[in-house]
Amino acid sequence: MAQVVIMAPASMTSGYRRIVVDDELAVIQPVPAGARNDHYYMHRALDQARLAFEAGEVPVGAVVVDPQGEIIGSGYNTVLSTPDPTAHAEVQALRAAAAHIGNYRLDGCTLYVTLEPCMMCSGALIHARLMRIVYGAAEPKTGMVESKANLFAQPWHNHHVQVEGGLLAVQAKRLLKQFFAERRAASSE
Ligand SMILES: [Zn+2]
Repeated sequence: MAQVVIMAPASMTSGYRRIVVDDELAVIQPVPAGARNDHYYMHRALDQARLAFEAGEVPVGAVVVDPQGEIIGSGYNTVLSTPDPTAHAEVQALRAAAAHIGNYRLDGCTLYVTLEPCMMCSGALIHARLMRIVYGAAEPKTGMVESKANLFAQPWHNHHVQVEGGLLAVQAKRLLKQFFAERRAASSE
């Protein structure tokens, strides 16, 4: 079943394009060097989310890709184990990428994250001067692109980030559902 473009008030849609992709049927082929695409990188973000899952953290993962297509930072949610309320996947990946290039400005870079960014991460992503953000599943409770507001469309930012959502959303959501189902089962034992 293909995803449906979500209609939002005009003020919320600026700079945001939903990727319409039949992600249940998507076949991911081995990707030769130089031919990596959004699907490839989102799968790497999903790999990060699985690491969070295995660590008992809410499974959200992210990677930062430079203009040459190299992954220069990756991370996953570690708020419980650190413990650190800012240790969301996006922040972890931004820190790794900035350390890697020795610059807090990630000009021309794209961040892939499995879940719609929250308020804190949206701010961090704008400060990082990313060129583009691609996320997977919507986060109806706290998402700051399509769910609760669109922080990226506000006119008072100097820097404009292109934001797209819905890529491999089914996979990202399935991982989250499985995590919370297992946690509920464990707590009721
Ligand atoms: Zn966040």
